[in-house]
Amino acid sequence: MKKAKSVLSEGKQIQLATELVRLGARLQVLEAYTTLSRERLVRLYKEVKGMSPPKGMLPYSEDWFTGWQPNMHSSLFINIYDYIVRHTNVRDIDALIKSYQLYLEHIEANHLQRILSFTRAWTLIRFVESGVLSTTSCVQCDGNFLVHSLDIQSNHVCGLCHVPSRAGKTKRAAARKAKEAQLVAAREACAV
Ligand SMILES: [Zn+2]
Repeated sequence: MKKAKSVLSEGKQIQLATELVRLGARLQVLEAYTTLSRERLVRLYKEVKGMSPPKGMLPYSEDWFTGWQPNMHSSLFINIYDYIVRHTNVRDIDALIKSYQLYLEHIEANHLQRILSFTRAWTLIRFVESGVLSTTSCVQCDGNFLVHSLDIQSNHVCGLCHVPSRAGKTKRAAARKAKEAQLVAAREACAV
């Protein structure tokens, strides 16, 4: 994801940062896309969220995305993102924002919990762009799912077609809904 720092006016940067904070972005994400000082970003964050931004490093490793439930949500998200990039002119941070908004709409419509935070979605795109994570299709349902690039195999079976026994009934039902939402989302993204 390229930085668009130099082309954005200060007003646009504030607008972008505000939108990112609303979606739940951490300070590190705001710093990656604006040239606003950390001090101003902290102030803006407090104003929008009514609290100080969380401190410390982003704790996310790529392994999180391969956990069963996170994988369903991350796969839904990456499918929306890929669709937008392939079929529209929306790119970079705008594509991320648009995809995340669609992800939120779809989990709300399906009464699902928000498993993928905005910052994780941002991290996810970076892992995909650097080749750490990729998508592969499930041989049984044909859906696209996120996998570790090192784990790509020609006979991948997704977590929905082969639900691990540790996943409870509720989780399974939720995952099925996420899967349905994935298909609908891809179709509706046409209207972006
Ligand atoms: Zn499958």
